[in-house]
Amino acid sequence: MKEDDDDSVSLAPLPHIGGTYIWYYMICRRELWLMAHAVNPDEDDPNIEYGRFLHERAYAREGHEVAVDSSKMDRVIERDGEVIVVEIKKSSRAIDSARTQLAYYLFELEQRGIHAKGELRFPEEKRKDVVALDDDWRKRLLEIQEDINDLVALPVPPPATRVSWCAHCGYAEFCWS
Ligand code: SF4
Repeated sequence: MKEDDDDSVSLAPLPHIGGTYIWYYMICRRELWLMAHAVNPDEDDPNIEYGRFLHERAYAREGHEVAVDSSKMDRVIERDGEVIVVEIKKSSRAIDSARTQLAYYLFELEQRGIHAKGELRFPEEKRKDVVALDDDWRKRLLEIQEDINDLVALPVPPPATRVSWCAHCGYAEFCWS
């Protein structure tokens, strides 16, 4: 990141770490390392199955996933002349992670000259949340990006540390049995 004389912030392009990495980073650093190293979670885990179902069926009439580099955005729609990136989550339990993932998508699009707003949807809770990119988000995302690069470069995963997400994680058996 470079600081110009007028204090405006010039942002370097992001490497292709993908929004999903941001989500895992916010949830559990060990989970991120495992995903990044293709140590796949338990595919029969009911949480994973249901998550897939939700992403395929919820708001299907608004289209399908949109891929931008390593990121897969649940929906990208146009409404009242604005581009809206929609991220669908099973619950708002990890809302900080979801907000950060969505902000990263907005940042990726901004790097390509597309200014978009973010909309988080929790269909089971009939709830929506709005995310707008600003300089605080940009700085935070660049810090996260650097931390992720360092983390993924580690030769072994960070030790398992119990977090509230463990009960819903496809790696639970791997970490705790
Ligand atoms: S089970 Fe818990 S410690 Fe293990 S990867 Fe999942 S969230 Fe992280």
